Amino acid sequence: MSACEHIEALLSGYLDGELTQQDRQRVDVHLDDCASCRQAFEQLQRIQSGLGSMPHPEPTEQQRSRMMGVMLTKTSRGVGWLLAIGGAALLIGMGVYEFVTDESINLWVKIGNGAVAVAALLIGGSVLVERLRDRKTDRYKDVER
Ligand SMILES: [Zn+2]
Repeated sequence: MSACEHIEALLSGYLDGELTQQDRQRVDVHLDDCASCRQAFEQLQRIQSGLGSMPHPEPTEQQRSRMMGVMLTKTSRGVGWLLAIGGAALLIGMGVYEFVTDESINLWVKIGNGAVAVAALLIGGSVLVERLRDRKTDRYKDVER
Protein backbone atom coordinates (compact mmCIF):
# COMPACT_ATOMS: atom_id res chain seq x y z
CA MET A 1 0.00 0.00 0.00
CA SER A 2 1.45 3.35 -1.01
CA ALA A 3 1.47 6.27 1.41
CA CYS A 4 -1.34 7.98 -0.49
CA GLU A 5 -3.59 4.93 -0.47
CA HIS A 6 -2.97 4.53 3.23
CA ILE A 7 -3.88 8.16 3.91
CA GLU A 8 -6.98 8.02 1.72
CA ALA A 9 -8.17 5.03 3.71
CA LEU A 10 -7.83 7.10 6.87
CA LEU A 11 -9.54 10.24 5.55
CA SER A 12 -13.15 9.45 6.47
CA GLY A 13 -12.08 8.39 9.94
CA TYR A 14 -10.08 11.62 10.14
CA LEU A 15 -13.19 13.65 9.30
CA ASP A 16 -15.28 11.74 11.82
CA GLY A 17 -12.60 12.20 14.50
CA GLU A 18 -12.22 8.44 14.92
CA LEU A 19 -8.45 8.20 14.39
CA THR A 20 -5.79 7.71 17.01
CA GLN A 21 -3.61 10.73 17.61
CA GLN A 22 -0.78 9.00 15.78
CA ASP A 23 -2.87 8.36 12.64
CA ARG A 24 -4.30 11.86 12.78
CA GLN A 25 -0.81 13.39 12.85
CA ARG A 26 0.24 11.17 9.96
CA VAL A 27 -2.72 12.44 7.90
CA ASP A 28 -1.99 16.05 8.90
CA VAL A 29 1.61 15.79 7.79
CA HIS A 30 0.75 14.03 4.55
CA LEU A 31 -2.02 16.50 3.63
CA ASP A 32 0.45 19.35 4.13
CA ASP A 33 2.71 18.19 1.32
CA CYS A 34 0.44 16.06 -0.94
CA ALA A 35 -1.86 18.07 -3.17
CA SER A 36 -3.81 15.10 -4.54
CA CYS A 37 -4.68 13.76 -1.07
CA ARG A 38 -5.58 17.28 0.07
CA GLN A 39 -7.95 17.47 -2.91
CA ALA A 40 -9.47 14.10 -2.02
CA PHE A 41 -9.82 15.26 1.57
CA GLU A 42 -11.58 18.49 0.58
CA GLN A 43 -13.92 16.57 -1.70
CA LEU A 44 -14.77 14.17 1.09
CA GLN A 45 -15.32 17.12 3.42
CA ARG A 46 -17.75 18.68 0.95
CA ILE A 47 -19.67 15.43 0.55
CA GLN A 48 -19.90 14.93 4.29
CA SER A 49 -21.04 18.49 4.99
CA GLY A 50 -23.57 18.09 2.17
CA LEU A 51 -24.91 14.92 3.74
CA GLY A 52 -24.77 16.53 7.16
CA SER A 53 -27.08 19.33 6.08
CA MET A 54 -29.55 16.99 4.42
CA PRO A 55 -31.36 15.65 7.50
CA HIS A 56 -32.48 19.20 8.28
CA PRO A 57 -34.67 20.28 5.35
CA GLU A 58 -37.46 21.26 7.74
CA PRO A 59 -38.14 24.98 7.42
CA THR A 60 -38.05 27.02 10.59
CA GLU A 61 -41.29 28.24 12.12
CA GLN A 62 -40.61 31.74 10.75
CA GLN A 63 -39.96 30.47 7.22
CA ARG A 64 -43.08 28.33 7.36
CA SER A 65 -45.35 31.16 8.45
CA ARG A 66 -43.84 33.41 5.76
CA MET A 67 -44.49 30.69 3.16
CA MET A 68 -48.06 30.32 4.40
CA GLY A 69 -48.52 34.09 4.16
CA VAL A 70 -47.30 34.14 0.56
CA MET A 71 -49.52 31.20 -0.35
CA LEU A 72 -52.50 32.80 1.34
CA THR A 73 -51.95 36.10 -0.45
CA LYS A 74 -51.62 34.36 -3.81
CA THR A 75 -54.70 32.21 -3.21
CA SER A 76 -56.90 35.07 -2.02
CA ARG A 77 -55.77 37.21 -4.96
CA GLY A 78 -56.57 34.38 -7.39
CA VAL A 79 -59.97 33.77 -5.81
CA GLY A 80 -60.63 37.52 -5.88
CA TRP A 81 -59.91 37.70 -9.61
CA LEU A 82 -62.04 34.62 -10.25
CA LEU A 83 -64.97 36.13 -8.33
CA ALA A 84 -64.60 39.50 -10.06
CA ILE A 85 -64.47 37.96 -13.54
CA GLY A 86 -67.20 35.45 -12.77
CA GLY A 87 -69.44 38.12 -11.24
CA ALA A 88 -68.93 40.48 -14.18
CA ALA A 89 -69.66 37.68 -16.67
CA LEU A 90 -72.78 36.76 -14.72
CA LEU A 91 -74.01 40.36 -14.63
CA ILE A 92 -73.36 40.87 -18.36
CA GLY A 93 -75.02 37.54 -19.16
CA MET A 94 -78.04 38.41 -17.05
CA GLY A 95 -78.27 41.86 -18.61
CA VAL A 96 -78.09 40.43 -22.13
CA TYR A 97 -80.61 37.71 -21.28
CA GLU A 98 -83.10 40.18 -19.76
CA PHE A 99 -82.64 42.58 -22.63
CA VAL A 100 -83.17 39.88 -25.26
CA THR A 101 -86.16 38.29 -23.49
CA ASP A 102 -87.85 41.61 -22.61
CA GLU A 103 -91.07 41.61 -24.62
CA SER A 104 -91.59 45.34 -24.19
CA ILE A 105 -88.44 46.19 -26.17
CA ASN A 106 -88.89 46.41 -29.92
CA LEU A 107 -87.11 43.69 -31.92
CA TRP A 108 -85.34 46.31 -34.08
CA VAL A 109 -84.01 48.04 -30.97
CA LYS A 110 -82.61 44.67 -29.88
CA ILE A 111 -81.03 44.05 -33.27
CA GLY A 112 -79.62 47.59 -33.34
CA ASN A 113 -78.16 47.25 -29.86
CA GLY A 114 -76.77 43.83 -30.74
CA ALA A 115 -75.10 45.27 -33.85
CA VAL A 116 -73.54 48.09 -31.78
CA ALA A 117 -72.30 45.59 -29.20
CA VAL A 118 -70.77 43.36 -31.90
CA ALA A 119 -69.20 46.38 -33.61
CA ALA A 120 -67.70 47.53 -30.30
CA LEU A 121 -66.28 44.04 -29.74
CA LEU A 122 -64.80 43.91 -33.25
CA ILE A 123 -63.24 47.38 -32.99
CA GLY A 124 -61.93 46.71 -29.51
CA GLY A 125 -60.55 43.36 -30.62
CA SER A 126 -58.82 44.78 -33.71
CA VAL A 127 -57.25 47.59 -31.66
CA LEU A 128 -55.99 45.00 -29.19
CA VAL A 129 -54.54 42.83 -31.97
CA GLU A 130 -52.89 45.87 -33.57
CA ARG A 131 -51.35 46.90 -30.27
CA LEU A 132 -50.02 43.39 -29.69
CA ARG A 133 -48.55 43.32 -33.20
CA ASP A 134 -46.92 46.75 -32.67
CA ARG A 135 -45.33 45.53 -29.49
CA LYS A 136 -43.98 42.46 -31.29
CA THR A 137 -42.46 44.51 -34.17
CA ASP A 138 -40.97 46.91 -31.61
CA ARG A 139 -39.24 43.96 -30.03
CA TYR A 140 -37.88 42.85 -33.42
CA LYS A 141 -36.57 46.37 -34.04
CA ASP A 142 -34.74 46.23 -30.73
CA VAL A 143 -33.12 42.98 -31.76
CA GLU A 144 -32.01 44.38 -35.14
CA ARG A 145 -30.45 47.42 -33.51
ZN1 LIG B 1 -1.04 11.62 -0.93
